[in-house]
Order: sequence, then structure tokens, then C-alpha cells
Amino acid sequence: MVLTEYSPLNMIKSTNKNLNNLKTQLLDWNLIQTQMKDKLGTEIYESWLKKISFLDVFQNYVLLSVPTRFIRDWITSRYLDQILQIIRLHKKEIIRIEFKIVDQDIQQTNDNIKKFENNKNVSFIKDTYLQYNRIDPNKRFENFVTGSSNKLAYEASLKVSENVSHYNPLYIYGGVGMGKTHLLNSIGLELKKNNKVMFISAERFMYQFVKSIKSNEMVKFKEYFRNTDILLIDDIQFMNGKEAMQEEFFHTFNALLDKGSQIIVSSDRAPNKLSRIQERIKSRFSGGLVVDIQKPDYELRKKIVEQKSIELNKFYSDQIKISTEIKDYISSEVTNSIRELVGAINRIISFSRIYKKVPNLAETKIVLKDLLNLTENKVTIDLIQTLVCKFFKISKNEMLSSRRSRYLVRPRQTAIYLTKILTSKSLPEIGREFSNRDHTTIIHSVKTIEKLKEKDPEVVQNLSKLKNQILYNNKNNEI
Ligand code: ADP
Ligand code: MG
Repeated sequence: MVLTEYSPLNMIKSTNKNLNNLKTQLLDWNLIQTQMKDKLGTEIYESWLKKISFLDVFQNYVLLSVPTRFIRDWITSRYLDQILQIIRLHKKEIIRIEFKIVDQDIQQTNDNIKKFENNKNVSFIKDTYLQYNRIDPNKRFENFVTGSSNKLAYEASLKVSENVSHYNPLYIYGGVGMGKTHLLNSIGLELKKNNKVMFISAERFMYQFVKSIKSNEMVKFKEYFRNTDILLIDDIQFMNGKEAMQEEFFHTFNALLDKGSQIIVSSDRAPNKLSRIQERIKSRFSGGLVVDIQKPDYELRKKIVEQKSIELNKFYSDQIKISTEIKDYISSEVTNSIRELVGAINRIISFSRIYKKVPNLAETKIVLKDLLNLTENKVTIDLIQTLVCKFFKISKNEMLSSRRSRYLVRPRQTAIYLTKILTSKSLPEIGREFSNRDHTTIIHSVKTIEKLKEKDPEVVQNLSKLKNQILYNNKNNEI
């Protein structure tokens, strides 16, 4: 009854709830999770969506977190639209989703620190230590695969770990996903057995620096850094701070070298190519040993594919055997970085677990689509229309006409649907390419095909054939 709803007790309760929980109140994440489970099924929910946590909601987007980049990519490429749809049921202003990658162990530590902080006045420097000096026990020398492109960097890192101050500083550079952080991490793991090790990204160093100035903790900051035996700084190219900061960094750097501490730095470029960093810092970098990591060659890629498949399989009791054909294919096609290579194997294994079969070559191509340097640009609306017309044996004029004969409507809707899922075109753009149809017609077509897919296996099969033809011009393989 109305009276109870407005009773003072309830009002107090709800006000408290408002204050405590303003963000989550705007978006009931538990409810959204239940709806995702209902809509996408338990299997997908348990494997992927459960790992999403809610972080924040803004005017027109939400910030969610996932534990790894791989999970983010997987979710983004497959379920993002559906998740967005569900979120929009609750807040229709939301137009996009952003993901932050938050390691759950770190998240846990953060939460614990927060709890602790409420009681005691722990210095932030200590937080830093707990939060950011986290060395990953899985990135070790033993599971770093070597080849001609990374051998030097590997050996230098190993030497540094055995014989402190042999090369000082050690400067490792190379492109994204080449194994720099893995090496720094391995050094940290080795050396922390007997030394005080500090492993921090340059960004974090800057952040901490600024924070310590603001809170008058500069003395502690200096002490803290100057006390370490080993300083590992990742991604130094992001160090672009103000003079004062570079000054401090330079002094810290020198103080450490003077007392014989080992410094290891990683970067995406050679020291002399660093912009916005003082000359004298660059020259100190160059004064030690500078080694680079190049793109992996076929042989190394192959070795990594082998080793990673074994490593990933260790987590499960039922072993997944990826065929040699697929391994060779991945090794020859995923060439950009080792990170992508590892991501590719991860996906193949996940696919095998979800669909309970190892993917064949055509399926592999689809699962790895975004990593393969193929397609994306080649998929044009024109290509989709041409192939769909050919498939249904109608002419393009017929497809683009306004006629509503049944034999034309289905192919037209199919082409529209495929354009929506295979290209990044917006609804109005797609409408324009289909003889200026309204975007509501486009939505209707997409929905119609989605519904048909649910009840008609032939539609699913035809779509797969078409998708394969469009993506790979591959008429024989089906997925
Ligand atoms: P970077 O820091 O250069 O961007 P990372 O060290 O983060 O790259 O490497 C990306 C991923 O690839 C990590 O999962 C890492 O463990 C893996 N990786 C990179 N190089 C190797 C290697 N030589 N052997 C095994 N795994 C590697
Ligand atoms: Mg890195």
C-alpha cells in the first residue's frame, strides 16, 4: 500500500541506498547478468560473460572490466551488440561499452588495501608496492621461447639475473607484444629471491611522482625508489613528464647506479628515438647495454605455437589436439606479434572447448579473422550483394529494386544482415547502399534473419556458406 511505501523507515533506507550505491543503482548489474545468461545461454555466460564486472556508468557509456585482453577481444567480437542491447533496456542513453582490463588478483589486492586504508593510515607508497610491484609468476625464463629475433635480449636478461651489474643499465626495445614485459618479469622473478626488486611502468612512476608532490610525500617517494636493489621500468617511452619529474628520475637513476643497483628498462624504440626525454637520460640509457627484439620469424612462431598449445592444455584434463595443419597455418599467418600468436592459440583452444571439436581450417580462419591481416578491408557491400545475388540466383537490379516478391525479399534481407555483421557500416549507411532504404527497414531485416536463424537450420547453413564465401572466397568449407 502507498502508506508503507512512503513510510519514514523505507525513505531512510532508500536514501542510504542512494548515497551508498548511486552508480550501481542506475544499473543493476546482477539483473543484467541474469539477462545475459538467459539470452546467450549458460555455456557462453559461464565461459565468458560471468567474468565481466561493472565499474562505472557515465552519460552515454558504461565502463566494464574483464580480467584479460583475450577475454575482452572475444567478448567484443561476439557478444558486444547483445550486451549493449540488454544494458539499453535499463538505460537507453547508453550507446557504447568500454572495457578496462583488470587482473582479478590485483583487483582483490586493491579491495583489501581500500578496506585496510579505512582503518589505518597506510602510506600510499606502500599501496604502490602492493598494487604495482606485482611480478607475474607465469612469465618466467623457462617459458620464454627463443629464436634468432629475441636471443640477444634473452641472453642479456639471463646474464643480468645471474650476475648483477654486468650490464647496467640494460635497455630492451622492440614492438608491441614482442616479449619485453615477459623478459623484465622473468628478471624480476629471478632477482627477487635475494634482492629488493621494484617493477613499475613508466606511466605508474609518473603518476606516483605527481601524487607524492601533491601529498607532500616526496621524501618517502625518493627513499622508496632509492632503496631498491633492482629497478625494472617498463615502457619508458611513456615517460614524457615535466622537467621536474625527469630531473627526479635522472637523480634516482644516478643514485641507483652509483650504489650498484641494477636498472633494466624496456621501450618500444631505441634510446636515441625517444622523444620528450632529456638528452642526458637518453645518453645514460645508451651507456649500458642496448638490445632489441625483432619480429619473430616463422621458425620461432612455430616453436611458440607448439609450446603454448602444450602449456594451455595443462590446465585441463581433456587434452585438445590441434592438427599440424592448423598449427602451421597459425604460424605462417599470425605474424604481427607474439602476443597475437598466443592469443590465436588461446582462441583455438577456447573454440574447441565450447563447440566440443577442434576447428577445421575454414573455422580457424573465422575464429582468427581479426588477427590474420586478411579480409576486413576487402569485405565491401558490393561484394556481399554480388555473392548473395549469385547464391540466390537473382540479379542485382532485382535485389536493389523496391519489389516485394518473396523470392527477392529473403535474399535482400540476407544481404542486409550480412552487411550488418561483416562490416562496420552504420544502419543509415547500409540503408543508403540498399537503394536508400530507411534504417528501420534495415533493423527489421536484421531482426527477421536473426529470428529465422533460430528456427530454420537451412538458413543457418546458407548464412555460413555465404559468410565463408564473402570472407575468404572459399566455396567448399563450411562452418
Ligand atoms: P611486450 O611487453 O613486448 O608488448 P609481452 O611481454 O607482454 O610483450 O608479451 C606478450 C605475450 O606474448 C605475453 O603473453 C608473453 O608471455 C608472450 N610472449 C612474448 N614473447 C614470448 C616468447 N619468446 N616465448 C613465450 N611467450 C612469449
Ligand atoms: Mg609490455
